[in-house]
Amino acid sequence: MDTFQQVSMHQALEPPLGHGKCSAAGHDAGKASGCGTGGGNCPVICSAMGGNPYAGLVSRLRAAWLSGKTRPMEYRVAQLEALGRFLDEKKEDILEATALDLGKPSFEAYFTEILLCKNELNDTLNNLSHWMKDEHVCKNLVTQLDSAFIRKDPYGVVLIIAPWNYPIHLFLVPLIGAIAAGNCVIIKPSEIAKNTEKLIAETLTCYLDSDCFAVVTAGVPETTRLLENKFDYIFFTGSPSVGRMVMGAAAKHLTPVTLELGGKNPCYVSDTCDVRNAARRVAWGRFFNAGQTCVAPDYVLCSLEMQEKLMPALREAITEFYGSNPKESPDFGRMVGDKQFQRVQALLSSGTVAIGGQTDAETRYIAPTVLVDVQPSDPVMQEEIFGPILPFITVASVDEAIDFINSRERPLVTYAFSSDHKVVNQVLERTSSGGFCGNDTLMHVMLTSLPFGGVGNSGLGMYHGKFTFDTFTHRRGCLHRGMGREALNAPRYPPYSQQKLGMVRAVSELKRKGACTLL
Ligand code: NAD
Repeated sequence: MDTFQQVSMHQALEPPLGHGKCSAAGHDAGKASGCGTGGGNCPVICSAMGGNPYAGLVSRLRAAWLSGKTRPMEYRVAQLEALGRFLDEKKEDILEATALDLGKPSFEAYFTEILLCKNELNDTLNNLSHWMKDEHVCKNLVTQLDSAFIRKDPYGVVLIIAPWNYPIHLFLVPLIGAIAAGNCVIIKPSEIAKNTEKLIAETLTCYLDSDCFAVVTAGVPETTRLLENKFDYIFFTGSPSVGRMVMGAAAKHLTPVTLELGGKNPCYVSDTCDVRNAARRVAWGRFFNAGQTCVAPDYVLCSLEMQEKLMPALREAITEFYGSNPKESPDFGRMVGDKQFQRVQALLSSGTVAIGGQTDAETRYIAPTVLVDVQPSDPVMQEEIFGPILPFITVASVDEAIDFINSRERPLVTYAFSSDHKVVNQVLERTSSGGFCGNDTLMHVMLTSLPFGGVGNSGLGMYHGKFTFDTFTHRRGCLHRGMGREALNAPRYPPYSQQKLGMVRAVSELKRKGACTLL
């Protein structure tokens, strides 16, 4: 088994420790083929020489990609199966690291970081040979004897930048598609989920081919330097503000991007719905991972009457899920860091606390909280909450709810609850968001058959299942012609004439269906 390369960018930007030696784990400075010429693989040496500390790494991966090593299906399958072994063999370590970082309950960690990743992996392995095949397309009269097809080409060297809230899932699911599509990959996990970052850097390195895959551990300044390099594709998951910076850096090289961003996901609850079920499904989606979920319902829109019915039902659901003191529940998580705790705690000053509201800075605990009397201009309605707080905004009708949603940035997902299908469909048809889920929360993410991604401020591009493979695949339009039958080509060559133009039209013109009278 090859060692997967880990490069610590914190180390990379420090002064060199030794003469021509790299301090990064698993890093063989002897393999460098020349710093400054773009061929070296030692960030320490390159940094000291004034070049970009990651240039050597990127060009080494590009050389591996150009060698064609990642193209055969057998190679891709072997790397994907190694990812499966990583998940199986490191399961306990993943549960432990995410518990340390986020107080993530082991059920939630197993469900999102292991099970959903395994599903993506198995879906990819089950379908890869089919997805990779050339797609033959329709031809016109001139090309009838030729071969016209779409080749599924890998992009080359891709960069995956991940956030901290699902620190395994959010780098691994894109990585599955990037490998399946035949790319070389640099993975940049979040430095905020420290224990998981360490685990990824130290153990994933033992499973994949070090010629083609590397983990870079980096904070903001180092990631900024990393992004100066030319990548062939960048897949970023994180906040819209950082997404803009990533897209700016990518634009310098005209690198295509996927941006999986966040936002405020509205949840409309109509007057006609099963109140108890709606409350349980909303509470689960909001308080899962202590609210640190990009697709969590961010706020509820409903009538004042429905708010009064939902409040006891939410209180009951919260007690049923987490007991009378959620702080003691093993099934309720914590804020990832002090900064995040303070930001979310400050949002509790909006409106009136109807349920919860307790906090503990030492353990970064914020109780499952529901806010009422909230104004659209309040701080809690100005930014993505990303914590266990659920504000209510009252509206008089479904029309007012739709107007409210449409007056704001387009969210990653819109939720609508109603026993009346027409109401759910109304919200679906008259709003725009990355995804949509009627009468539940989060569950649409589980289906590998659905594209997952944002629109507008919530992102650009999509993934999951085949959509991940397609994201990392350049669809290369190919026409392969025979060398003979030159007479058939004669009409398109100069000297031009009306007669030649008539012949070209006759063999190549596409007619609108139903508009053709004689032919
Ligand atoms: P973030 O944008 O702060 O960081 C994401 C990644 O970008 C991290 O790896 C970080 O090191 C890096 N980064 C941060 N600042 C940078 C900079 N200036 N230049 C270059 N790289 C930089 O996001 P986060 O706090 O880790 O995650 C929370 C956000 O991510 C929320 O907005 C959430 O909605 C969003 N998110 C979206 C999805 C999705 O699938 N759409 C999933 C999870 C999280």
